[in-house]
Amino acid sequence: MDISCPSCAEPWDTDYLCHDAIYDTDLYNTAEALCDAFHGKLDDTYRFALEQAGWKFAGTHMHMFVRCPCCKEKALHPSSSLRIETRQLLADLMGDDIDGFVSFSEDLDTMQNARISRFSAVKAVA
Ligand SMILES: [Zn+2]
Repeated sequence: MDISCPSCAEPWDTDYLCHDAIYDTDLYNTAEALCDAFHGKLDDTYRFALEQAGWKFAGTHMHMFVRCPCCKEKALHPSSSLRIETRQLLADLMGDDIDGFVSFSEDLDTMQNARISRFSAVKAVA
């Protein structure tokens, strides 16, 4: 399952986020990373290392990101500020329910993208 970046819409595999993203940081050879203790749960050390790699978070889990390393190279999504605000609210609401957070994020992205498409179609006709 993928979860998209609310800022640039880049899709990220949830398994990669939980198990492999930590290896793209300076912590790649630490005991925590090597024994797979990370599991996406952010403490101060993981959060700092991942933010140095380009991530920014709204919650206490890796899936609750609002910016990703691709944001530097891609154009921002047309409704990125709304998507970031929604993601932050959802992170506060769902707490430790990561599966629920991912599922609701996917549903909200689908609804927001459909709304943008309809709005664009109306603007093109007008
Ligand atoms: Zn991004």
